[in-house]
Amino acid sequence: MVKENLAIVEDRVKAACDRAGRSYGSVTLIAVSKTKPVRLVEQAYEYGIRQFGENKAQEMKEKYDMLPKNIEWHFIGHLQTNKIKYVLGRAALIHSVDSLHLAEAIEAECVKKGLEADVLVEVNVAQEETKSGIKTEEAEGLVKDIARLPHVHVKGLMTIAPFVENAGNNRMIFRTLKELSVDIAGKNIDNVSMNILSMGMTNDYEVAIEEGATHIRVGTAIFGERNIAI
Ligand SMILES: *Cc1c(COP(=O)(O)O)cnc(C)c1O
Repeated sequence: MVKENLAIVEDRVKAACDRAGRSYGSVTLIAVSKTKPVRLVEQAYEYGIRQFGENKAQEMKEKYDMLPKNIEWHFIGHLQTNKIKYVLGRAALIHSVDSLHLAEAIEAECVKKGLEADVLVEVNVAQEETKSGIKTEEAEGLVKDIARLPHVHVKGLMTIAPFVENAGNNRMIFRTLKELSVDIAGKNIDNVSMNILSMGMTNDYEVAIEEGATHIRVGTAIFGERNIAI
C-alpha cells in the first residue's frame, strides 16, 4: 500500500513540476510518518524514501533510534524548549521555529552539546489563530534576530496552509511565502540562506510545487488516514 501510494505521489509531483517548468529534482518529498508505526516507515524506506517528517519530539527520537542512520528526519511540529534535547543532533532540519525565545533555547542547547542547527522560520501566512507561526510582517525581523545566533542557521521558510476543499484556494498563501523568501534573500543577511521553501501537504502539494515549494510534507497520501487527530 505504502509503495503504491508513493508511486502515485511521485507521478503527481512530476506532473506538477512539468506544469511549472521545474526539474523533478528541485522538489524534495518528505514522508510525514507521525503516529504511524515503524513498519510503515520501513516500507517507505525500502521504496527509496530517505526524508521523513515527525511532529512530536519523543516520537521522532524513538524512530530515529530504531531506523537506519542514513534517514534525514524533519521536525515539523510545535517544539517545546524542554524537548529540544530530543530533536537536536537527530533532526536534519527543524521546520517550526517561530519565536526568538525558541531559537535562543536551540542556540543554548547547541552550545551545550557542541552542535549546530539548521532551521526554517515558520510563517502563519493564513493568519489562522489556532496555528503556530510568526506573522508575515514580522518574519524578516525574526530572521535577522536569529541570524545573530552563531550555531543556528536559517535555511528558509515554512508555512502550514489551512485545509480547504479546493487546493487552489491556498495558492495565494504559497505565493506570499515565496515572495517573502525572495524579499528576505535580497537582504543578504549573514548566516541566512533562503533556499528552502517548505509548503504543501496531501491536500495541496501540487499547487505548492507550482508556486515554488522545494520541500513538500506529505503524510496521508502516503501512509493513509491517521487515527488520532493531530
Ligand atoms: C501532519 C502534517 C503534515 C502532513 O499532513 P497530511 O495532510 O497528512 O499530508 C504536514 N505538515 C505538518 C506541519 C504536519 O503536522
